[in-house]
Amino acid sequence: MTGKSFVHLHTHTEYSLLDGASRIDALFRRAAGYGMPALAVTDHGAMFGALNFYEAGLAAGVNPILGVEAYVAPSSRFERAPGESEEKYRHLTILARNETGYRNLLRLVSDAHLEGFYHRPRIDKELLAERAAGLIGLSGCLASEVCQLLLGGQRAKAAEVAATYRDIFGEGSFYLELQDHGLADQRRILPELIALARRSGLPLVATNDLHYTEREDAKPHDVLLCIQQQKVQTDTNRLRFDSDQFYLKTAAEMHALFPDQRDALLARLDLARDADDHVTSRIAGKSASGAPRNPAASRRGGRAP
Ligand SMILES: [Zn+2]
Ligand SMILES: [Zn+2]
Repeated sequence: MTGKSFVHLHTHTEYSLLDGASRIDALFRRAAGYGMPALAVTDHGAMFGALNFYEAGLAAGVNPILGVEAYVAPSSRFERAPGESEEKYRHLTILARNETGYRNLLRLVSDAHLEGFYHRPRIDKELLAERAAGLIGLSGCLASEVCQLLLGGQRAKAAEVAATYRDIFGEGSFYLELQDHGLADQRRILPELIALARRSGLPLVATNDLHYTEREDAKPHDVLLCIQQQKVQTDTNRLRFDSDQFYLKTAAEMHALFPDQRDALLARLDLARDADDHVTSRIAGKSASGAPRNPAASRRGGRAP
């Protein structure tokens, strides 16, 4: 394993509606071109794209890892009136380790829509604890509970929340997620996350929050965000990303971002190997000959759309 290996574990595709500008085929072309062994999908709150992503990954020879960037309610998923200082939901990155995990993810996402919907389809920790088998948790982006607490200077509470997630996902299955897209808030809490990992013994994993495939796609992606918000690009009072770094970076770029975090960069490869052992052969199923047995693929002549 060379030091320049890398697997992206936090990826939004076009199925993160009006937020992800990456076409699935383009993502896999890039990942395959860079020699990446695997690529995860973590669309916002839904798994509409899972089958297309899975098939495209197999076609490209890149192991597809299925996941979701879940919305987590601040308390119960049934609670729809957040307190004054509470957000309505926090982000959490979840990956399926195996078929059990994939099925649990489907249930989590369905229940989030049916039971927890409030602005977004939301799960809560109770539901997650019931459905955590076969799943790997990553602490998430700036909008995650852990990062928001660290940003607010609440270190002890952040450690408590991280410990709760470790208990839910199980020892070794919850990672503190490091991201650096050049945003000031991210840079402010990176040392905090690293210190928390040291104190708690939790492993680190570095990700890039992919919302588009190429760096130059940052502009069209911004247009997409404007369409989502029904605003124009010149409007300063709107959601924008404030950086053009949300693209599929090379392993060398990722290693340059986190030069002292070799374990965090390679941790994803352990995850990918694990997923490789379990996910690829089971989600679509395999015939006795080992060929994919996937009714949807057969209907389309075996080709990803
Ligand atoms: Zn997020
Ligand atoms: Zn994200």
